[in-house]
Amino acid sequence: MSKQQIGVVGAGTMGQGIAQVLMTSGFEVQIFDVSEAALEHARSNINKGLDKLVTKQRLNEEERQAAKQRLVTLTALEGLAGCEIIIEAAPETPDLKERLFRDLSTLAPDAILASNTSSLSLTRLAAVCDKPERVIGMHFFNPVPVLKLVEVIRAEQTSEASVARIEALTEAMGKTAVAVADMPGFAVNRLLVPMINEAAFLVQEGAATPEDIDAAMKLGAAHPMGPLTLGDMIGLDVCLAIMEVLYEGFGDSKYRPCPLLRRMVDAGYLGRKSGRGFHGYE
Ligand code: NAD
Repeated sequence: MSKQQIGVVGAGTMGQGIAQVLMTSGFEVQIFDVSEAALEHARSNINKGLDKLVTKQRLNEEERQAAKQRLVTLTALEGLAGCEIIIEAAPETPDLKERLFRDLSTLAPDAILASNTSSLSLTRLAAVCDKPERVIGMHFFNPVPVLKLVEVIRAEQTSEASVARIEALTEAMGKTAVAVADMPGFAVNRLLVPMINEAAFLVQEGAATPEDIDAAMKLGAAHPMGPLTLGDMIGLDVCLAIMEVLYEGFGDSKYRPCPLLRRMVDAGYLGRKSGRGFHGYE
């Protein structure tokens, strides 16, 4: 597949990481963003990412130069028309993603259209497209160059051929695909975020301190970091939003967001990015 043209929509945190891994895996990448500044920032971050790989001796000088030449930046969506696969990593806003998918499905009538959405229904996105059988979820994890998993989400309409193409692309990017049905939270967030929410309940109930809860899960369950440290890293606002999606999506009280989590988000204690969460980061 190494000569394939792959499109990436959105040059933020995830789009940059996805583009970098595609480039080092030998794909020609066309990345589109509405913001020229975001594209410039993405190119600079990708170059830094490639430098880091050279320092770690995972890439040689020749490979770095070759990878750099595989990136084209675009401010017109039409530039993606020749791509065989397009991976969307635009903001998590339903209207925006639906508009993008509708436009992509007409301008690239034969391309596979993959979304990196964390929480939206792929089935609903597919429903606004021509040939909905080519719409699929490709859920990467942050930081993309480091984390090996891609959840491949099958919408109701997704064909087996589309699943096979995306599994092959995932493998060619050096990642591992796990196929999951189109359900709120897919697999990883449905398991991980309720654990963080439950840890917040433990703090709320005064059962143990955040430090002790994290130590317990590191030492007793061999987790590389405790659930509250992890929640602070993801962002408590993001964790709350995922709990809301699970609660609303399943209509099951077991997914109710912890009131303490909600109060912390209301107070602006969002974790690492705001300097304070369950732990302090001043
Ligand atoms: P981000 O805010 O870092 O980047 C979004 C980019 O999209 C920005 O550069 C913005 O300029 C651009 N954009 C805005 N409107 C656009 C449009 N109409 N067309 C094209 N680009 C547009 O966001 P992110 O964290 O990279 O998240 C992107 C997607 O990935 C979301 O769906 C998110 O849920 C998902 N996701 C995020 C993470 C994470 O940890 N950040 C992990 C997995 C999945």
